[in-house]
Amino acid sequence: MTIQLTHNIGGVATPSVDGRTLEVHSPSDDALVGVAPRGSAADVDRAVKAAREAFETWSRLPAPARGEILAKSGRILEQRKDEIAAVMSREMGKRTEEAKGDIQEAIDTAYYAATEGRRLFGRTAPSELPNKFGMTIRRPIGVAGIITAWNFPIAVPSWKIYPALVCGNSVVWKPAEEAPCSGAMFAQALWDAGLPNGVLNVVHGYGEEAGAALVAHAGVNCLSFTGGTEVGKLIASEGGKTLKHVTLELGGKNPVIVLPDANIDLAVDGILWGAFGTAGQRCTATSRLIAVGDVADRLLPKLIERANKLVLGDPADKRVDVGPLISKKHRERVHAFVEQGKSEGGKVLTGGAIPTDGPLAKGWFYPATLVDDVKAGSTLALKEVFGPVLSVIRVKSLDEAIAVANEVEYGLSSSIYTADVNAAFRAIERIEAGITYVNAPTIGAEAHFPFGGVKGTGNGHREGGWAPYEFFSEVKTVYVDYSGGLQRAQIDNRQE
Ligand code: NAD
Repeated sequence: MTIQLTHNIGGVATPSVDGRTLEVHSPSDDALVGVAPRGSAADVDRAVKAAREAFETWSRLPAPARGEILAKSGRILEQRKDEIAAVMSREMGKRTEEAKGDIQEAIDTAYYAATEGRRLFGRTAPSELPNKFGMTIRRPIGVAGIITAWNFPIAVPSWKIYPALVCGNSVVWKPAEEAPCSGAMFAQALWDAGLPNGVLNVVHGYGEEAGAALVAHAGVNCLSFTGGTEVGKLIASEGGKTLKHVTLELGGKNPVIVLPDANIDLAVDGILWGAFGTAGQRCTATSRLIAVGDVADRLLPKLIERANKLVLGDPADKRVDVGPLISKKHRERVHAFVEQGKSEGGKVLTGGAIPTDGPLAKGWFYPATLVDDVKAGSTLALKEVFGPVLSVIRVKSLDEAIAVANEVEYGLSSSIYTADVNAAFRAIERIEAGITYVNAPTIGAEAHFPFGGVKGTGNGHREGGWAPYEFFSEVKTVYVDYSGGLQRAQIDNRQE
């Protein structure tokens, strides 16, 4: 049955002003999964007005009470986890187990955000004058515009929407056009939990239309974006024209360094999961294996054997390890990267060909692919592929491995496998990335730790844990003078 979506503006389910729609097709077999309204500037304008109106009362509700609604939405997501995971898996191709993990991340974030409603700490410090008190409090910003990518249709939006709401902001969210159906189910959990009308508004549509309108709208006070680096740069510059606060979570080109003393079987397990989980379509996916010394000779035969055994197919089938890529166009892009890698001297050890037979021919599948002898500085070594392609770069030393790890424009996640604590700490200190794992894969963020990257991966903010509450609120400094007289700072307390 095809899912029919609407926008939700001010609590009202509504089609687009101009009646246009967009279709969502399953990447597994190209079947029609859903039809969503195709929002334009007019829809965004209505949503921002509804959010602005709702802000007046929502921002005055005590933060602990706001938190209680978020906690309830977490409980609703728990009850609906299987149902939502099935839709997510169908519309964007994530394996059902991983789809459940996506939703669990949102549940964890709901509970964290709910308790943050009882913190939202300010500070006090002694005043320099007698009978005077100084403190800071946190105030909401206003309307938050939220734009997200399809690969984490619920987890990533939850990292933004829950903190924005508990801080007292209202929200206009444009989910990714590729995965609006599961996104809508996430929003529904919040409305069913009792979120007042207009506090969270959802406008579906394409980035260049609904997304761009949200970025430009003068009634939006802050923007939180997850997606590609080029779009992120555009959003930062367009949003800057109306002085919006902007947080960006962008691409990655994540390395795993394996030293000769590493536990090889552990490294193989971690590399397979990091490189081929979600068919490599994670911002934190392991994209480069930087093999030090002779370790490649022991590591690669095991990796090839295990990669060859990974089952490609329907993400709802429990026996399947790797689902489809998001679209035909994206698969062409991924395959073009592999071809480019070959032309630059890379050797395909396994994978590297588009399946043309049987049920796999109906969807946008691409096999787990290992490319050896990728040269530092070449296309495969530098560009984000966002698919199940692992490039092997051989180096001689830890110093060289770290230099290669740092040669990319991105800096999201990273990993090192070694038994040498000194080497691990040198890597932790010197790898340019927002996240470094030791003896674990590059993927697997936990909801209560900050998440984000350096260099081209972002603009210095973090999601997850305690970090986003700073972004979604403003500090107000309050002075209370109870002396009964005029006290002049820097003057009356100086005897000159
Ligand atoms: P994308 O940038 O094309 O799209 C992301 C969102 O931005 C979508 O909702 C899209 O509609 C919207 N958008 C596109 N153009 C826009 C514009 N001009 N104005 C406003 N909105 C616009 O990204 P994608 O290709 O769908 O997603 C994959 C990318 O996202 C990868 O680079 C991946 O690394 C990145 N990503 C990063 C993180 C992170 O936390 N760092 C997490 C997930 C995905």
